Amino acid sequence: MIAQRPLGQTGISLSVLGAGTTRFLSADLRDSEGLDRCAALLARAVRYGVNYIDNAFSYAEGHSEEIVARLLRLVPRESVHLAVKSNSGSDPTADDVLRRVESGLRRTGAEYFDFLYLWSVLDAEQLAFLLRPSGPYEGALEAKKRGWVRHLLVSSHAPARDAAQIVDCGAFEGILLSYNLMSRAETGPVIDRAAARGMGVLIMNPLGGGILPQNETLFSGARLPGDASTAEAALRFAASRAGVTCVLAGLAGTRDLDQAIHAFDGWEPDDAERNAREKAASSAASLPGLCTGCGYCRPVCPLGLPIPEWIQSYHQKLLRLPRELYGLTEPEEIERAAVLGRLIQGFSLLPASGESPCIGCGKCASVCTQHLPIPQRIAELYTMIRTAHASEADRRERLSTLLRGHGFRRVAFWPASGTTSFVLREYRRFFGEPDFEPLFFDSSPAAGTLDGQPVYGPADLTRLRPDCVLVASFRFRKVIREAVEPLLRPLGIPLLCLHQDGDAPWVF
Ligand code: SF4
Ligand code: SF4
Repeated sequence: MIAQRPLGQTGISLSVLGAGTTRFLSADLRDSEGLDRCAALLARAVRYGVNYIDNAFSYAEGHSEEIVARLLRLVPRESVHLAVKSNSGSDPTADDVLRRVESGLRRTGAEYFDFLYLWSVLDAEQLAFLLRPSGPYEGALEAKKRGWVRHLLVSSHAPARDAAQIVDCGAFEGILLSYNLMSRAETGPVIDRAAARGMGVLIMNPLGGGILPQNETLFSGARLPGDASTAEAALRFAASRAGVTCVLAGLAGTRDLDQAIHAFDGWEPDDAERNAREKAASSAASLPGLCTGCGYCRPVCPLGLPIPEWIQSYHQKLLRLPRELYGLTEPEEIERAAVLGRLIQGFSLLPASGESPCIGCGKCASVCTQHLPIPQRIAELYTMIRTAHASEADRRERLSTLLRGHGFRRVAFWPASGTTSFVLREYRRFFGEPDFEPLFFDSSPAAGTLDGQPVYGPADLTRLRPDCVLVASFRFRKVIREAVEPLLRPLGIPLLCLHQDGDAPWVF
């Protein structure tokens, strides 16, 4: 049987293994029989003792709630704890959150949800947006008052300093965090902080999005005697940190379930095992040539450069990466997107130019605990940045084609980020002051500003009626397109994308 642990102060105990609903195979999501197979897989997990089923309306290509409905025909409602999720991009107001929960109840047939997540909070600004008057958090409180949900949780992909604010705000009873062998140095302290505040902690992404099992040998040092595989070691590692209640495993099929059950059936670590796992994980993450994030190099750099973040971004290059990433299929492009994606999204380090500021003095390498060739790696990183930097001629041509000669009076740039600032700076450099009014939009406007101008949200589209929306982000272009296109269609506003499929990101 799978052990259960208390979820913070909710009074609920969850199985150490929770069932994710994001990774079902597309082939199983095409017809009713396939959806039944997914539900049967979850029911089998429940029979093994799994009592937490993760769920969000968009998971499983939008079928997650339908699968949960089918599951509830196979197992009693009270045998599982169910989640519903609301994201501020799609549900920016309190009323939107209520509608989302109501729709989830209708679609699943569950009489209530155990947990409502305000989902995928990316930074402190988004937190402020959630907590503003009449914002999503008010909707969440109302859903709880109505008995539709029982506990309010949050899921976060924020950098550590912003995640600490999410923990400290005191609005949530638990937090779902991405934690694995690769992210332990960044996320571990956030887990400790949340646990110290009495919050429940759930873990997503314990296998690093598949990177850990794909790099079995590289991370094999994380295995302890008795671990059947690196994947099993990774799952147990995630569940071994004090304060963690439940680790979510994505279930694409019986193989995933069997692996997860094998990892957790009858397993609960004692202090000696917890320590051994942390030690093994730290040695696994430092082989071969991986930065452990110890930070010894930081104070010796005469320029104060962000060396650990750079080197940890460079790590992506050493890993076996998926065959498709952000719509890219060329291995070299995937590698570049993975490295730069981590640099920009993981650490918010947007290079000002392709010229490396490192002077190659080597002081960092002389103190590196892992003896890494830091200056060489920084040089390689900047070569990638330069390569990904679309040529000036290309940038000029793309901006001219998209924005000039169409008679646009108002252009909405989405999202309100550093990329958008750069795009506008480039426009001014190439063509002078625009003959249109730039407006900044974001799915999470968070009452913020960009370059001194207000940031608007989806609800402002009708009022402001831009002539077009330009999606500037590379990494989030698909997500933004999917979220924004349905809003624009009834208004007849065209959607333009700075990056076409196959483009290198505009990294600057
Ligand atoms: S080699 Fe570069 S990163 Fe290292 S200490 Fe010198 S300037 Fe800083
Ligand atoms: S000293 Fe080496 S291992 Fe430690 S943070 Fe710096 S680069 Fe990483």
